[in-house]
Amino acid sequence: MSKKRRAIVWFRQDLRLHDNVALLEAIHSAIEVIPVYVFDERYFGVDTELGFPKTGPHRTKFLLESVADLRKNLRRINGQLIVRVGKTEDILFDIAEQAKSGWVFCNRERTPMEVTIQDDLEQRLWSIGQEVRFSRGKMLYHTADLPFPIQHVPDSFSQFRKETERYVGVREPMEAPSNSLAQLTVDIDPGEMPSMADFGFEGYHTDRSGNPLFEGGETAGLNRLHTYFNHPDAVDSYRESRSDLSGDLYSTKFSAWLAQGCLSPKTIYQELKKYEERYRDSKSTQELVYNLLLRDHHRFMAKKYGEHFFEEGGVQGSYQNDWSDDYHTFHKWVNGETGVPLVDAAMMELYQTGYLSNRARQNVASYLINDLHVNWQLGASYFESILIDYDVTSNWGNWSQMAGVGSEVRDDRYLNIEAQALRYDPHGEYVKKWLPQFKDMPGEKIHQIHRLSPEEVISYGLDPNGPYVPRERERGDQRVPSS
Ligand SMILES: Cc1cc2nc3c(=O)[nH]c(=O)nc-3n(C[C@H](O)[C@H](O)[C@H](O)COP(=O)(O)OP(=O)(O)OC[C@H]3O[C@@H](n4cnc5c(N)ncnc54)[C@H](O)[C@@H]3O)c2cc1C
Repeated sequence: MSKKRRAIVWFRQDLRLHDNVALLEAIHSAIEVIPVYVFDERYFGVDTELGFPKTGPHRTKFLLESVADLRKNLRRINGQLIVRVGKTEDILFDIAEQAKSGWVFCNRERTPMEVTIQDDLEQRLWSIGQEVRFSRGKMLYHTADLPFPIQHVPDSFSQFRKETERYVGVREPMEAPSNSLAQLTVDIDPGEMPSMADFGFEGYHTDRSGNPLFEGGETAGLNRLHTYFNHPDAVDSYRESRSDLSGDLYSTKFSAWLAQGCLSPKTIYQELKKYEERYRDSKSTQELVYNLLLRDHHRFMAKKYGEHFFEEGGVQGSYQNDWSDDYHTFHKWVNGETGVPLVDAAMMELYQTGYLSNRARQNVASYLINDLHVNWQLGASYFESILIDYDVTSNWGNWSQMAGVGSEVRDDRYLNIEAQALRYDPHGEYVKKWLPQFKDMPGEKIHQIHRLSPEEVISYGLDPNGPYVPRERERGDQRVPSS
């Protein structure tokens, strides 16, 4: 390809310079490169049908930090990130027309809304003789390297692993560009970074005291990557500690950076292999690869099943009759007012930080679906709003799996919350952290609260009108089903 023209690089969920195929292809193909990021008006500052912000405050903050970091890192190589708020395809079209670029390079997305946007852009660019050039970079595996077409990817994750791990290699990640970009000879306003207030989050205060890790951006993501793999204790205990509820090092916490593409999964894999060479491979390092592949598998399932992946009956097409759209019950769950301390503590952590351990996610999801009998899609929609690490296929895939309508039918979907609480929070420390009203209750009583008399509950300072003190008519109710 002759190097004559300008190229736009449309940054999407790939907010990084390292291992960014779209960026490298643009640099390789064109003389001048114009990097662009659009805060799309369909995702920011708008509410979902359920009344939650489409992109909640934690993720918005993380994204603002990530885009600011990208801008800073691009400046180091003489790049100027153009930042806009609006409708992506209109904005990119206008910039392409003004800059008379030849192509818009981007990493391809596979989920419905993202596909609509990229298709619209492609059609509009054709009208001015320009084209979209797609690259790939979200996953550990390249679709092209799979030994089967997407339609034949096994529904069972273990089968998928069996049929791929031995035969499919993980490609080497690409280095970040080191040479300076050519000076732009077209004048384009770089645009101001929007603020939290621009998206309706004035006075937003995030409690990062529980999880201070999540600063957005490639720089913070790479720092975390190196910190984590320099902690042999953390890596070696990953398999066991991953089920913990609190702490910096019980799991990698890579998810938010992975979701926005501040970290490449291949770069994580490469670091992990270096770690294995330096120290040892173990069940823990294998488990980490397993989880990164699980992420890929959800993506393949979304591609294989399209819209069904998000439907109530899921890819199974099966409906459970007793799910309801009971908004009253659903909102109690959202607000951490179910009366079950473990569930309520987790919902408070989620609300305040945007993050939850995998164990806590499974517990609150199981409780909503199996104990409250609420439609799993409501839970998935709330997570979509609130999660700092929301990833469309990981979220909807895990939720549908918990609801038993995902690609894999498993028997262990029902979690007995009391048993889980006693196992993973035996001293009630997690609950006390997120529900300070429990501070005076002896830890061992917290998860047995439904067995205490109202008088005893009140004696520990809990609000007689709150969710933990059973009203007269509720006495004797089993709040937590016992099997
Ligand atoms: C109901 C529910 C909703 C979820 N929603 C999301 C979501 O929106 N975004 C998201 O990234 N993860 C989601 N997960 C998966 C998992 O809980 C998180 O990836 C994990 O807790 C993030 O913490 P970590 O990075 O420390 O994970 P680690 O245990 O350190 O795992 C490393 C990486 O592997 C991937 N991974 C791990 N477990 C899973 C899994 N079950 N499915 C897919 N990928 C996985 C993630 O990218 C993660 O960052 C969800 C799980 C449940 C049960």
